[in-house]
Amino acid sequence: MGACLGSFANVAALRTLRGEDWVRQPSACFHCGKRLGFLANLPIFGYVRHGGHSACCGQKLPRRYVLVEVAFAALLVLAFRQLELPVFLVFVPFLILMVVIFLTDMDAFIIPDWASLGGLALGLGLALFGAPGLPVLADALLGGAGGFALIYGINTAYKLWRGHDGMGFGDVKLMAMLGVWLGPWALLPILFAASMSGAVFGLMAILATRLQKAENRPDQPAQVPFGCFLTPMALVWLLFAPQLLSAAQ
Ligand SMILES: [Zn+2]
Repeated sequence: MGACLGSFANVAALRTLRGEDWVRQPSACFHCGKRLGFLANLPIFGYVRHGGHSACCGQKLPRRYVLVEVAFAALLVLAFRQLELPVFLVFVPFLILMVVIFLTDMDAFIIPDWASLGGLALGLGLALFGAPGLPVLADALLGGAGGFALIYGINTAYKLWRGHDGMGFGDVKLMAMLGVWLGPWALLPILFAASMSGAVFGLMAILATRLQKAENRPDQPAQVPFGCFLTPMALVWLLFAPQLLSAAQ
C-alpha cells in the first residue's frame, strides 16, 4: 500500500511541475508514451522486473521512482506503528501531501497550491467533523492563522532588512496547513528544527560550491528549498511528539 501511495505521490509531483493532469490521465511510459499495463504499473516490482528499464521500449527508468516508493512504504509502516489506527487512517492524505510538497520544492522550489491550500481545507474539514488526531476546530483555526502570520511576519521583517523576500509565499501557505493539522503548539518546534537543519544544509551547500569552483558568485544568494525541511520536521512531530515531549521533561 505504501509503495502504491508513494508511486502516486511521485507522479502527482512530477505531473504538477509539468502542468499535466495527474488525476484522470492514465499512466504512460514517458519515453515512448505507451500506456502502462498492470504489471508495469506495480510499484517496486514494475521497476525491478526489467532491471530498472521500461518494459515497452527498454529505456532506463529514473532511480527516483523506486526510491520514493520504498521510502513511502517505510514511512507508512512507521506511521502505522506510531499512530493509533483511526489517527493513522485520517493522516494518510497528510503523509502523501508532505511527500508531494517535499518533491516539488526539491525539484523546482514550488509548493503547489492544491497541496498546501487543498491540504489546509481538508484539515479544516476534518477538524470540523472532529476527526481523530486533529486539533479541535478552534485550535485548527488558530494553528492555521498562526502558521500564516508566523512566516508572513518573518518574511516581512526580512524584506525590510534585506530588501527582498527571504521565503516564498508557498512556505506561508504550507505553515498554515501544518498549523491546521498539527495544532498551533507544533508550529514553533517545527519552524525551529527546520530552520536549524536548513541553515546547516545551506552552509554546507555554500562551502561545497566554494570548494568546487575557484570563482564565487557573491551576487547570487544561496537558495534553500525550505519546504524540504519543514515537511520532514512536521512528520517527526506527528510521529514522535509524545516521545520527544516526555523525554524533554
Ligand atoms: Zn516506453
